[in-house]
Amino acid sequence: HISSNICIEEHRICVCVRKRPLNKKELTIRDLDVITIPSKDVVMVHEPKQKVDLTRYLENQTFRFDYAFDDSTTNEMVYRFTARPLVETIFERGMATCFAYGQTGSGKTHTMGGDFSGKNQDCSKGIYALASRDVFVMLKKPCHKKLDLQVYATFFEIYSGKVFDLLNGKAKLRVLEDGKQQVQVVGLHERDVKCTEDVLKLIEVGNSCRTSGQTSANAHSSRSHAVFQIILRRKGKMHGKFSLIDLAGNERGADTSSADRQTRLEGAEINKSLLALKECIRALGRNKPHTPFRASKLTQVLRDSFIGENSRTCMIATISPGMTSCENTLNTLRYANRVK
Ligand code: ADP
Ligand code: MG
Repeated sequence: HISSNICIEEHRICVCVRKRPLNKKELTIRDLDVITIPSKDVVMVHEPKQKVDLTRYLENQTFRFDYAFDDSTTNEMVYRFTARPLVETIFERGMATCFAYGQTGSGKTHTMGGDFSGKNQDCSKGIYALASRDVFVMLKKPCHKKLDLQVYATFFEIYSGKVFDLLNGKAKLRVLEDGKQQVQVVGLHERDVKCTEDVLKLIEVGNSCRTSGQTSANAHSSRSHAVFQIILRRKGKMHGKFSLIDLAGNERGADTSSADRQTRLEGAEINKSLLALKECIRALGRNKPHTPFRASKLTQVLRDSFIGENSRTCMIATISPGMTSCENTLNTLRYANRVK
C-alpha cells in the first residue's frame, strides 16, 4: 500500500523549472548567464534535464526538480512533459491545474499564453492553446465520443483579491461559497467551444481585455493572476476541469515596502495568495485532510481543484538566466522546491 501511495503522490504533483534565454536588454548590459542545467551522462537530444545549478556563482546552490528545461526548449516540449499528461485527468472526471510561477519577465505568459512580444501576437503556441488542441483530439476517441461531452472555456483575472471576467469586458464578479463548501464565481461567462480556433479567439479576446485601459500594461498584468479554464460537461454536469494559471510576478510580493499605499496593498495580496497556493499544493501532495484554500481569493476559486481524489497539478517555475535576476531566481527556485 505504501508504494502505491507514493506513486499517486508522485503523479499528483509535478514541479519543473524553465530557463529562458538572455534577452536583448541583458545582452546589452553584458549580463552573465548564471544558470546551468547540466546534462546527464547520456541524454537524448531533446530529453529534459532535472538539475538547476548556480554553483558556478553561488556556493551550494543546486536544486533538483521533476524536470528542468534549458533555454533551447520549445513551448511544445515544455507542454509535453507538464500539462500534456494532465489532459487525460479531465477525461477521467478529474481536476487538473497548471501554474506558471516566477518573476516578471521570466517567461510565464510566453509559456502559458504564447508569444505576445512585438507585432506578431501568436497565442497558438502557448500551453493554453496546446492543451485545448489535445482536448479536441481526445474528444474524438471512440471511448470519449460516446460520453457526449461538451467543452467550455472561461478566462478571468484576479487582481488585488477581486475577480474580473476577461470574456465579458472585465465585469467584476462575486465569489460565493455555499453551505456545502462549493465555491462559485457568480456570472462567470462559460463559452462553448467546438474547436481549437474557437479557443484561440477567446484567448485573444481575453488577452486584449487583460491589458486594455492600462497606462502600463505590463505593470498591471504582473500584479494579477490570469486563470484560463477548459471545462468538460456531460449533460450539463461538470465532468472535468483544467485550470491554467499565469500567476502574478512573485517579486511583487516585495511591494509591501512601497511608498504607495495601493501598491503596498496589492503586494500584500500577492504575497498572501502565493503563500496560500504553496500550502494548498503541499496539502494536495501529502493527502492532507485540510486544505487552507480560504486563505486567498486565488486558492478559493480553485478550491475544487485542490480537493477531490482525482486532482493533479503541475508547476512551471520560470527563471531568468541573468546575474542581475539572481536574487529573484533564488526565491523562485526555493519556492518551487518547497511546493514539491
Ligand atoms: P512574464 O509573463 O513572466 O512577465 P513574458 O512571458 O512576458 O514574462 O516574457 C518576457 C519576454 O521574454 C517576452 O518578450 C517573451 O517573448 C520573452 N521570452 C520569455 N520566455 C522566452 C523563451 N523561453 N524563449 C524566448 N523568449 C522568451
Ligand atoms: Mg506576463
